[in-house]
Amino acid sequence: MLLLVAGCTSVHEGSEAQPPPQEWSLTNNAAQPAPPKKHPAAPPAVKIIPVPAGHAGPPPQNKIPPAPLLTWTSLDRWAKENKLAAPQKIPNSPVASYAVSSPRGKMILEIGSREAAWNGIEINLGFAPEIIDDQVFVYGLDLQKNLEPLLLGEPLVFGTNRVIVIDPGHGGANVGTHSVLDGRLEKEFTLDWARRLKPLLETNGWKVFLTRTGDAYVTNSGRVVFAEAHQADVFISLHFNSAAPDQTAAGLETYCFTATGMPSTVTRGYADPWPEKLSSNDFDAQNLRLAVKLQGALVRATGLDDRGVRHVRYIEVLRGQKRPAVLIEGGYLSNPKEAGKIESAEFREKLAEAVANALK
Ligand SMILES: [Zn+2]
Repeated sequence: MLLLVAGCTSVHEGSEAQPPPQEWSLTNNAAQPAPPKKHPAAPPAVKIIPVPAGHAGPPPQNKIPPAPLLTWTSLDRWAKENKLAAPQKIPNSPVASYAVSSPRGKMILEIGSREAAWNGIEINLGFAPEIIDDQVFVYGLDLQKNLEPLLLGEPLVFGTNRVIVIDPGHGGANVGTHSVLDGRLEKEFTLDWARRLKPLLETNGWKVFLTRTGDAYVTNSGRVVFAEAHQADVFISLHFNSAAPDQTAAGLETYCFTATGMPSTVTRGYADPWPEKLSSNDFDAQNLRLAVKLQGALVRATGLDDRGVRHVRYIEVLRGQKRPAVLIEGGYLSNPKEAGKIESAEFREKLAEAVANALK
């Protein structure tokens, strides 16, 4: 997981990102619990559990403070209240794991882990589920922001205009990362992916605008402004990853904006102000549904490893979006095997087809 630190969104977008304004830092005291938030969807009877320091232990790559004193809910009770079958313990799993299912699919939760699986695709919770008094307890915002949109939510609906902005990462002097095989640049491959994707989406009835159509420099904030100017219903940013000098990191990731009150999956040293509420947060449920749909389609089409759907605040092109917005890392240019694939037109066509199929 430490390999993440060298990823494309760190090295290259980070190089463009401005340091966060002072007030961010002030609201991002890691020792400070998220503000007590009572969400209306909270079930009537919940257990308030003070979580001992370190109990909701941080994964090694990020310093996640222990879960604040907030509502945790019994998964059994939540399932019952939502007319779902009782969660089932998965026999013989190395870590205690539970499955909860709805007509939309199956969620698998691991006790003590923020990683969960939705229909076989990794998603990341804000806090690890816990066993308390022989029952599975899940953090209230995880139920609201991660379980409910997938298990109970309506299918994805896009605006009637069906306008989509595709954002080929980097461009011009911002070259992105490079292939370990021959130094070819990320900006070239993201543009080609976008150009292949455009006609496929148009065939499916989308009006498609690219944030750049050639080797042009576009600021990250300019890409968000572009989406707004085109009244986009959806925004998808296309990238390739790097963990250089490591050559073993492999697989696909899809990023969406972190829900208010929750810790991000990845921070790469940037401030991660839990209370922050941006327009992006109006689309929390749709962001997640879009991200899992794309991630699933990409993993199935390419056979690359599933590195999961991840929540972030620091990626600038996802900040302040007024539409569902995600960023895809379509494999590792620092991995010789994956770089070889990414350099092949056939593989980039597969990536384009997977994205287009997910948006049908
Ligand atoms: Zn990139």
